[in-house]
Amino acid sequence: MNTAKLRVLYLVAMSQLVSSCSYESFSMTSPFKAVVLAFTGTDAEGRAQFALTERTFRTLTDFNNLDGTYANMKRGGKLKIKNINGSIVSADSFEGGEKPALRYKVKSGVASALDYSTLAMLSAYFQIDEIYSTVEDKLGLAPSLLQAKLPGGKHTILFEPEIKMTGNGSEISAGIKLNAAFSPTDKKFLLFQRSPIEKVPIGANFQVLTHEFGHFVFDYSFYGGNVDEKNRWADDWALSGFNEGFADFVSWSFTGSSDILRSSIDIEDFADERDFAKTSFTFENLNAKEPTACTGQFYCVGTLFARSLYHTWTALKDTVSTKDMASGVIETLKKCKAELDSMSTSILPAEVNRDDLKYPETYQYDGKVAGSFLRAFVLHAPPAWKAELCIAFKNNFGTSGFPTVARTGSCD
Ligand SMILES: [Zn+2]
Repeated sequence: MNTAKLRVLYLVAMSQLVSSCSYESFSMTSPFKAVVLAFTGTDAEGRAQFALTERTFRTLTDFNNLDGTYANMKRGGKLKIKNINGSIVSADSFEGGEKPALRYKVKSGVASALDYSTLAMLSAYFQIDEIYSTVEDKLGLAPSLLQAKLPGGKHTILFEPEIKMTGNGSEISAGIKLNAAFSPTDKKFLLFQRSPIEKVPIGANFQVLTHEFGHFVFDYSFYGGNVDEKNRWADDWALSGFNEGFADFVSWSFTGSSDILRSSIDIEDFADERDFAKTSFTFENLNAKEPTACTGQFYCVGTLFARSLYHTWTALKDTVSTKDMASGVIETLKKCKAELDSMSTSILPAEVNRDDLKYPETYQYDGKVAGSFLRAFVLHAPPAWKAELCIAFKNNFGTSGFPTVARTGSCD
């Protein structure tokens, strides 16, 4: 056999070896396409629908490393967590983390995952890609404004890091509470291992990721993108609620669904009480040691806030688009912290350690803080919204969550 024939045989053997290998990094060219678990719209009852479907990435620049203009994904690594507050975590440190090591095959230029982790990572990355590709259209916010607040100009998405709690709480409770989370100090998105109560995997769920992204937008607007963990508001109970409610409102702005958790979690009661368009409890119903009308602690305050914004939009929707609404809420939030920081103690009570209070003092304190926030919000909201905002805040928060003293000069 001559050398030319040998070379041909060698090349054939090599190409077969390569093509039988699942690591087909060589065959993907931009714009990248993959089969992902994607949000496809809502049904007649407003419930989100999902499907495994082909999608094109718009901000991804390096397929195999899942690296792009606004985000980079890392797999594994060790994450130390100081504190958990809803789906917001205070990360102590993160070490390690590897490249995604995607396993997929390619047909007609479209990647299809060969294992669950690859599908989950591609899908999760796609949700962030979709968020940044549409954020200007959905929230009226230029991606460059958000990007300017990101360390290194992009989010790191941690996929299934190992968790260690360094503060209060156990790894087990962290695992139960956290399926997806946002870390405000370093702007990381955290996606944890699948939990047994999940339906659509949370890390790949557009509703959940737009909620987590909503925490970043709260951070951007309320804190000017520079949250300080020692700030009074960073772990205030009622403010944590407003942050959660705003995150649900952002999710709704992206999807049109107020039913944020239904598609993710198999526990009906949790999903029911978070659906801000359908629930009817008020702040007055939280006046109990263990309220039964809503069991989600400060998330309940969030639902009342999201519902108030939703009712305001419903009343104004002939002239206010959902994009106008989101943009107006963001612009208003930018002015709320300064208003609160300069508010008279006759309206906003001096800071106390809430752990030192017992019911009903906790309820009264939280109501005064909530009322102060609502006052600041109304004072800085677009003038054309004020009448409807006041109706919605009064209906949902009552005089306990929006006391008369806070209404004077804003909603009286
Ligand atoms: Zn949250």
